[in-house]
Amino acid sequence: MKIVVAGGGIGGLSAAIALAKVGFEVEVVERAAALTEVGAGIQLSPNAMMGLTALGLIDPILSVASRPETLEMRIGRTGEKVFSIPIARESKQRYGAPYLHVHRADLIEILKRAAEFVGVQIRLGARVSAYVRDAAGVRVGLDTGGILPCDLLVGADGVRSTVRRQMLGPENPNYTGAVAWRITVPADVAPDLPQSAVVWAGAGRHAVTYRIRRGELINFVGVIETERWRGESWDEPGDPADLAHDFGGWAQPIPDIIAAAETCFVWALFDRDPLARWSEGGRVTLLGDACHAMPPFQAQGAAMAIEDAVILAKCLSVHGVSEDSLARYEGLRRPRTSRVLASARSNMGVFHRSNAITQAATYGPMKLADRLFPAFVRSRQDWIYAYDVRKIAV
Ligand SMILES: Cc1cc2nc3c(=O)[nH]c(=O)nc-3n(C[C@H](O)[C@H](O)[C@H](O)COP(=O)(O)OP(=O)(O)OC[C@H]3O[C@@H](n4cnc5c(N)ncnc54)[C@H](O)[C@@H]3O)c2cc1C
Repeated sequence: MKIVVAGGGIGGLSAAIALAKVGFEVEVVERAAALTEVGAGIQLSPNAMMGLTALGLIDPILSVASRPETLEMRIGRTGEKVFSIPIARESKQRYGAPYLHVHRADLIEILKRAAEFVGVQIRLGARVSAYVRDAAGVRVGLDTGGILPCDLLVGADGVRSTVRRQMLGPENPNYTGAVAWRITVPADVAPDLPQSAVVWAGAGRHAVTYRIRRGELINFVGVIETERWRGESWDEPGDPADLAHDFGGWAQPIPDIIAAAETCFVWALFDRDPLARWSEGGRVTLLGDACHAMPPFQAQGAAMAIEDAVILAKCLSVHGVSEDSLARYEGLRRPRTSRVLASARSNMGVFHRSNAITQAATYGPMKLADRLFPAFVRSRQDWIYAYDVRKIAV
């Protein structure tokens, strides 16, 4: 049985590996001329790592990752600590899987190699433009003129998915009201940066810092609320002077990190409301940002795509290519991804308290809870991090 996966991002490649490992013939169609990712980092929480372990990738990922000691929240202007979770210890004890940071290009390279190793065909420079479905299967049309017959089409083609548009009709993603600056700089520009994932909270903005590539680089994401986004492209080259202005007056090492940036890009952040369904006729389904794009304020978009990939492969392997399989897949994934989306949306407000009063009202109790009830603070992410795809019955 042949499956075509539209899109060679983290979700598409993870799905391709999972599907090939359970015996399907898989072809990935990627519109870009090469499999690449933006030059930025990504956090892989324990649930993402359990998914990647199911794909057999724990060792290669450990070899390129950086492992934070703590997850922290700090006040951006003063550097004052709000809470600190000893995630290196907790992730091992609570979840049995590490919390890691990697460079996206390293992750894509690992996924690509693993996909090729299990026999996935990767077709680059071709865009899935449409599909025709009938009882016998699916014919996938490419912009290069080719037609790929298959038994199932998986749309892992991102937030502006062509497969989703044909299945459910045109609908623009929601602009979250925020854009994200992204830079990576050599780690020696800020030797005192804690070995942590730190969320630096501020009025209408927040930053996230962590180390990647075995600690050699620092990844900085600076999110700022703005309605000035012009809305045509999703990412644009930005002026480092504007970035420095957006985070002017923040505590060290934020100014040193920003000053070290030679070039930077700024991303408009979009999400989508939960979909009522994302499969069609037992022959076409969606995965990752194509069906549940979320803002990055919970660092879970890729984790959800990886979980989708493993669950989809399990459903198809146990129940075959059928409406029942895809209904089970959606039934397992929709409630969880909708809840994570809601949580990510609400985090933006938590990170962006606009004045001293609202900041004190939010961060004061958090600080107190961290001192008085650390076990409670640490358990608050269990519903996300403890999810082990390997144990989910399909
Ligand atoms: C600033 C920021 C920080 C983030 N941090 C984290 C984090 O720390 N942890 C985390 O888990 N998530 C994070 N995310 C979210 C994560 O990056 C995404 O959820 C994830 O990359 C989605 O993967 P995907 O494969 O579904 O989609 P994409 O990565 O968008 O991949 C889609 C692929 O499909 C291709 N494509 C598109 N259309 C077609 C077509 N018609 N035919 C063929 N190919 C096509 C594209 O070229 C692309 O390669 C972050 C996001 C942002 C913006």
